[in-house]
Amino acid sequence: MPTHVIRNAGASARDAFRSLVISQQLLGTTEVLLVKHTGCGMLTFDNDTARGLVKKNKGDEAAKEVEDLDFLAFPELEEKVQDDVQWLKSKAVEEGVKVTGWIYEVETGRVRKVV
Ligand SMILES: [Zn+2]
Repeated sequence: MPTHVIRNAGASARDAFRSLVISQQLLGTTEVLLVKHTGCGMLTFDNDTARGLVKKNKGDEAAKEVEDLDFLAFPELEEKVQDDVQWLKSKAVEEGVKVTGWIYEVETGRVRKVV
């Protein structure tokens, strides 16, 4: 059975969705392990902060390119793992796919199952 590792900022299910569909429909994967980690940078900002940084560092034209972009940051780790797993399970294309959510604890090196 093929295994694919899909990485993105914050281990976002929404951001990975396109790759997940390809992995399952074209390449035959049947299970998703969503793993976020403690100390994630995505816990430290929000859309306004990210957009403000783009504007400050890159100017108005660049700011326009990200004005509607959701950077998919999140304020609470465990809650977001549950939310992402629930979101994936709600998608019809994910029906029949096993989805679990995990947290990699950087401090201890342990991985624990959340849902
Ligand atoms: Zn991270």
